[in-house]
Amino acid sequence: MPNDTFRAECRAREEAARGQQADESACGTCRGNVANGKQVEHDGCARRTLLLEPPDMPSYDVLIDMDMAEREALPARFHVPVFDDLGKPNAWLCRVCWTEGVVTSWPCNTAMKHGAQVFTPIHDAELQHERQTRQLAELTEQVEQARRIAVALEQENARLTTEKAELDKVCDEVMRERDGLHDALDQFAQAVAPEDVIGEHSSGNNPWANALELVTPMVEVDKLRADNAELEKALGLNEAAVA
Ligand SMILES: [Zn+2]
Ligand SMILES: [Zn+2]
Repeated sequence: MPNDTFRAECRAREEAARGQQADESACGTCRGNVANGKQVEHDGCARRTLLLEPPDMPSYDVLIDMDMAEREALPARFHVPVFDDLGKPNAWLCRVCWTEGVVTSWPCNTAMKHGAQVFTPIHDAELQHERQTRQLAELTEQVEQARRIAVALEQENARLTTEKAELDKVCDEVMRERDGLHDALDQFAQAVAPEDVIGEHSSGNNPWANALELVTPMVEVDKLRADNAELEKALGLNEAAVA
């Protein structure tokens, strides 16, 4: 029958392609075969299903204190099979459903009841992996952004520190100039009149203003000089005037 022929061809094709992936633990011969596009020589050297325990699997020290009911109540993901190759007969046992002297063959009650939740299908695992990769990329971007902000803040801080130093310098100069001006005005005031006439600096007294009031303007001085010369001439006291 044509249908039988078709099935036989399919089966032959698959069998020829089988065993072309080596397990991590494969021997050198089988690795060599696979590298050359051939099949592994030993069944045990072919790539197998990977059984990973969940990362939060309860430790032996925690399990030892639990009774069977507590163990059965543990989440389904912990009820994975382990192969006991020492017991007689060899058997698949539940990883968590055991007490001292008592073991439970797998699937245990919990693994039977919540079968779909024991293992993660590879498709879901890949989705989860993609999600984690995306989240990692997002977090990396956020960290990078935070680093850029930190660098910008550091630069701004350095700029402000420089600006402040410059302002301090200018402020010092202004204060020095002010002190110099103060000293010069004091000198001027003291040249005009002694301190007991113009007084000291206080909230009610300004010796500079007092000194200014005592100064005779140049126009008046010129007029006084002219008057004086006139007077001296009239009195014949000034030799220059006489000559
Ligand atoms: Zn091998
Ligand atoms: Zn179990």
